[in-house]
Amino acid sequence: MKAIVYNNPWDICIEEKEEPAIMLPDEVIVEVRATGICGTDLSIISGEYLARPRVIIGHESAGVIVDKGSSVDNCNIGDRVIIDPTYYCGYCENCRKGLRNHCLLKSTTEAGVSIDGTFTRFFKTTQRFIYPLQDGVPFEQGALSEPLSCVLTAVKKLAVTPFMRTAVLGGGPIGLLFYLALKQYGIQEGVIYEASPQRIKLIEENNVLSKGWTLSPAFIPQKNQYDLIIDTTASLLEKSIQAIADGGKISLMGLRNNQQTINPREIADRSISIIGSIDSQDTFRHAVDLINSGRLELHKIITNEYDLSNFNAAVKDLGCDLHTRQRSNNISSLKSVIRIS
Ligand SMILES: [Zn+2]
Ligand SMILES: [Zn+2]
Repeated sequence: MKAIVYNNPWDICIEEKEEPAIMLPDEVIVEVRATGICGTDLSIISGEYLARPRVIIGHESAGVIVDKGSSVDNCNIGDRVIIDPTYYCGYCENCRKGLRNHCLLKSTTEAGVSIDGTFTRFFKTTQRFIYPLQDGVPFEQGALSEPLSCVLTAVKKLAVTPFMRTAVLGGGPIGLLFYLALKQYGIQEGVIYEASPQRIKLIEENNVLSKGWTLSPAFIPQKNQYDLIIDTTASLLEKSIQAIADGGKISLMGLRNNQQTINPREIADRSISIIGSIDSQDTFRHAVDLINSGRLELHKIITNEYDLSNFNAAVKDLGCDLHTRQRSNNISSLKSVIRIS
């Protein structure tokens, strides 16, 4: 089977890999139909996020069950499914504390990072990590469960309430999923700041935002401007602190290296909460249910689809140029998905 393999930073290739086979009774094999391209994939390619050399990347997927072990009782061959790619053991100290997104085995079990992922035709997992994908819901929408569940985990930690004055920094896929998730929690008004003119154009053309939400190209912080700021860019914490109201909350979810200077006294004195979040913790089912309900209008944010053989072009359209080995804001897609098989 053809697969996208990471060798080293800026060095990936399409390669023939061996198909996985069932070895244990609880295993299932999913024929992957769609895998989303995630910011993490781009950070792996650019060397900003560590991955194991020779690993198949990709982790946001939906597909069809093609084989299963003898004890699997939650699906049948032919079933459409969504894959939860974030393995947890359930036994380690962090798992027992409820921090399954920080399972101590994560560094050796993360699909698309430390074990083979889903930019390929077949993926092996266990019955614990698959969820049904409703008939009629496209595979590419099912593939958004993973990033949506990460966003829902962050939103849950923020304990948001309606009428919080809200800003989302970054109108990429994660920023837009935050917008969709926050609306589910009653936040019907807000601003999305996005620097890329192409992205702004796509958001406007596709009618992504409902009444009450607006787009702005430049985040110029003003005092006491917002009660809630979601920074998906990993680069705007200082400005966020300038704009956050007393008692406000700032959510950090970008996985890019960046140094920012903050004054601890100000954080204390103004009761500011800075809340980090990674992966999903008990929200995967919620994400699956939302996607299966069809109410999120995800088709508006999935703008580009590619074949596996066009992977380089797909990441280039997201500002990640394998030829010049550079990342830029030259982005011509909102969410991009690779169609497989
Ligand atoms: Zn992802
Ligand atoms: Zn664990």
